[in-house]
Amino acid sequence: MDEDFDHEGFLASLERSGASSTCPFCGATEWRHGEHLLALRKHGDVHQIRGGGELVAAYFCQGCGLARLHSTGAVRSTND
Ligand SMILES: [Zn+2]
Repeated sequence: MDEDFDHEGFLASLERSGASSTCPFCGATEWRHGEHLLALRKHGDVHQIRGGGELVAAYFCQGCGLARLHSTGAVRSTND
């Protein structure tokens, strides 16, 4: 799913929902997405290989490197 994830559509959906694209630390508005989607799991699930956890997309501020995570289920992408 990582390679097929529509980051542009996802970010557009975030903006339509009222989310700001301005970095709260440095004021930059350019972000790059992480190479892969990430799964957040509860502590102790280190041996779990597949399934479970919250799937999130990571974005990094181009000005200061601030990392932000968004649940991929928080908004619907334009591909849905
Ligand atoms: Zn920043």
